[in-house]
Amino acid sequence: MTVWNLGSINIDHVYALPRLPQAGETLAARGLTQGLGGKGANMSAALARAGADVRHVGAVGADGLWARDRLAAFGVDVAEVAVLDAPTGHAIIFVDDAAENLIVIHGGANRALPWAKVEGALARARPGDRFLTQNETAWTQEAARAARERGLSVAYAAAPFEAAAVRAMLPFADLLILNAVEADQLRAATGRGPGALGVADVVVTLGAEGCLWIGADGERRLPAPRVQAVDTTGAGDAFTGFLLGGLDRGLPMGDALSLALRAAALQVTRPGAADATPSLAEAEAFDA
Ligand code: ATP
Repeated sequence: MTVWNLGSINIDHVYALPRLPQAGETLAARGLTQGLGGKGANMSAALARAGADVRHVGAVGADGLWARDRLAAFGVDVAEVAVLDAPTGHAIIFVDDAAENLIVIHGGANRALPWAKVEGALARARPGDRFLTQNETAWTQEAARAARERGLSVAYAAAPFEAAAVRAMLPFADLLILNAVEADQLRAATGRGPGALGVADVVVTLGAEGCLWIGADGERRLPAPRVQAVDTTGAGDAFTGFLLGGLDRGLPMGDALSLALRAAALQVTRPGAADATPSLAEAEAFDA
């Protein structure tokens, strides 16, 4: 089946600095690298690596055609990526010598995406397909509702965390994925633990400790393979992409989680986000 991912496409501008600037200060950067980023794009890339038929629903501006093409090069279908008269979403990332960072995100085209584009894409989905979204685009709640109505199963990665947006999504989610910090924030916002949200399956990622799955049969803790982490950027996105990719291939949840844990462990052993995501064959063969 197909996985429809309504998600952000960002251009990451990463500036290397000796230290982070103070308010009012001007600092010269030592270097600049630019690449494809955004949680949505990272998850679509991971889904493609996991062997899924993934259609990305989103938007770029004229300045981001290369980012869309980069996503396509991962094997993601980008026919539903609109080109808008708006700047491509971007992140300005300062990284200093101590690896501290400071990040500003501008939603740009991700937030300007017209509803008609989302609706048009979902009209092509078939019952049994999967829908995935995060919190970096417009129309997440409306799209999740429409996807449910069309008979798609809805997965939702509650990041970046915004209490109101996450609460509004809960009634439409079949699978909720969040990290430990987001799980605490959700508990504070709702007064309920992850097992009492009315969502059929909840997965809390726990970094090097693996993950916790709360489903119909109760809680199950799955450990992560032990690895030497060099860069955890995009670990959560790789985890989510491989989890959905595994479920889409018909794996039961426990096996799909095991695949996701192996893929995310491999991801953290390599520098980079989408570029560091392993292939399905690598993840399946990985036995730490
Ligand atoms: P990030 O923001 O770095 O993308 P996150 O905060 O969303 O990640 P985490 O829980 O830190 O989420 O990590 C997601 C998954 O990545 C974990 O459940 C685990 O499978 C894997 N992972 C992260 N760090 C490690 C590690 N040091 N060793 C092995 N696996 C890891």
